[in-house]
Amino acid sequence: LFVTFEGGEGAGKSSILKAIGEQLREEGYPVLETREPGGIRIAEKIREVILTPSHTEMDGRTEALLYAAARRQHLVEKVIPALQAGKVVLCDRFIDSSLAYQGVARDLGLEEVYKINQFAIEDCMPDLTLLFDITPEEGLKRIADNKGREQNRLDLENIDFHVKVHEAYHDLAEKYKERIRVITAGQPFQEVKRDAYQVLKESLPS
Ligand code: C5P
Repeated sequence: LFVTFEGGEGAGKSSILKAIGEQLREEGYPVLETREPGGIRIAEKIREVILTPSHTEMDGRTEALLYAAARRQHLVEKVIPALQAGKVVLCDRFIDSSLAYQGVARDLGLEEVYKINQFAIEDCMPDLTLLFDITPEEGLKRIADNKGREQNRLDLENIDFHVKVHEAYHDLAEKYKERIRVITAGQPFQEVKRDAYQVLKESLPS
């Protein structure tokens, strides 16, 4: 089962992913926890190129292509082998991040970004996507309060950019109702985890 975790900044998806991974493992499911962009050597390098704060000259299409390239390598090297081994793959971000951030917020066009991603992933779409929904204001406040967080190039974007990301995710959830399930992420951690876990559990073989 291929499950992706999506959402804007500060939605808490990475911590929830970790907590759910632990719970599933305790229940005896074989689990792979991974993240994008990154998760493997080559893709972590691409991540660094994309997110280095000083790389301000990065062109939007270059950025989109780099994300797609990192996604491809990560998929082939790590995700597909795990799925073939019968694991539950929990992946922090995937194609919907590119559709929302590059396609909509960067204004490259949903169709265009979808096309390069289709080239990258072929037909390997997630079985389930959990969308952690939080208002951009609340999300940005959370990351500002999180002193241990690494700075990245996206921190330079203003609130309008994050509002566009948020709206784009909503539109995607409407469009792909079967695959994308919205989780209210503004609640206390344990409640977000419980909701996410319940949705995921419906998709798991018992
Ligand atoms: O999820 P995580 O915080 O690791 O993502 C790192 C950064 O990359 C975030 O600021 C996120 O907004 C950005 N990103 C992006 N486009 C993507 C994926 C991630 O701008 N397709």
